[in-house]
Amino acid sequence: MPISVAFLGLGAIGAPMAAHLARAGHSLTIWNRTLSRATDSTAAAAGARVATAAADAVREAEIVITCLPESADVAELLATADHALTKALRPGTLLVDCTSGDPDTSRRIACELAALGVGFIDAPVSGGVAGAEAGTLTVMVGGPADALERARPVLESFAGKIVHCGELGAGHALKAVNNALLALHLWSTAEGLVAAMKAGVAPHVALDVINASSGRSNASMNLFPERVLTGAFPRTFRLALLAKDAGIAASLARAQKSASPTLQLAADLMRMAHLELGDEVDHVEAVKLVERWAGVELRS
Ligand code: NDP
Repeated sequence: MPISVAFLGLGAIGAPMAAHLARAGHSLTIWNRTLSRATDSTAAAAGARVATAAADAVREAEIVITCLPESADVAELLATADHALTKALRPGTLLVDCTSGDPDTSRRIACELAALGVGFIDAPVSGGVAGAEAGTLTVMVGGPADALERARPVLESFAGKIVHCGELGAGHALKAVNNALLALHLWSTAEGLVAAMKAGVAPHVALDVINASSGRSNASMNLFPERVLTGAFPRTFRLALLAKDAGIAASLARAQKSASPTLQLAADLMRMAHLELGDEVDHVEAVKLVERWAGVELRS
């Protein structure tokens, strides 16, 4: 059964997600702050309507998906122009926030929308741009189970795995923790490979052994061989966004008063790398800082 869907935010990951929705035959309207990104998108080519205002995109929608950098952007979009977007949502609409956001802001948004009869679940994704293009993203959902069931046929267009993680904000919390682990794996693998290289072990030899041993991770198995040793460093997921995620994980752990030195470290390292390298670099380029300080390059 085709569902009427609006997709707001056609960035690096949003664009391929929206393309799957269009190809799955849903009645899709897309909107992006920079209009050309919507008009030039694969989703538009696959038949999605392009709205010039976010409020116009959602008027007829049963399900609205947001995929913006952070929760503050979602809140701002809902509130902008005297809450035009919020006012355009019909009672009964479900907002599915695929942003990697923060639980507190999402709970606030959910509360405001509930007063209007509009539902909300957090549904951040993992799997990168490659996973989005392949339609195999992992979706981690926080919120009522019946709302997830409503959204499931839509999420299935771009997901390989959909997991109900818990109450509102649970998806965002888990996504932040996952990405803090990614940050730590990335950074520690860079340090380890530099140390091994200076001890006389070539990076490709070190990775060959690590990837058949207990120190392996997605960073060692995929990111370093494909992006660092090749020097390719493709720009798919901005370091600024990883720094934001690690910051959310560190804040969560601090608020819970749990001992979390490595989560705090992940946040500090990523914030520092972001400040040093700028807004547009990819997350894997954080490795370049470790290389720079060591005076070596981890290339094959
Ligand atoms: P990008 O930076 O590529 O794109 C951001 C999108 O949000 C653009 O469409 C941008 O519009 C829009 N935008 C930014 N600020 C605002 C605002 N204030 N109001 C309205 N629109 C806004 O981000 P990604 O697509 O990479 O990431 C989106 C979300 O998905 C993030 O939370 C990220 O952490 C998460 N994510 C990303 C992954 C990836 O591999 N890229 C993997 C998993 C999760 P404009 O075109 O006008 O700039």
